Amino acid sequence: MGNGAKAKTKRERDQKKPGTGVAKSQLKVNEAAKNTICQRCRQTFLCTVRRDALEAHSTKCNAAFDVCFPTYVDPTKK
Ligand SMILES: [Zn+2]
Repeated sequence: MGNGAKAKTKRERDQKKPGTGVAKSQLKVNEAAKNTICQRCRQTFLCTVRRDALEAHSTKCNAAFDVCFPTYVDPTKK
């Protein structure tokens, strides 16, 4: 008796540590992620947007992809 109970208590305490504040930091990430902006019409996109979608948008804008999104970095090419 004693040791087993202590170990159990420690395990339960450790399980409570992770997870707190995740929702808040996720919001911040979402804000920061809205950094793909069409330079022609100022429409914003998440930086995780697929290049296909941006290309489709630039077509609608009647501009080249590089004109609408000169700073776009394809996340799949990293
Ligand atoms: Zn546009």
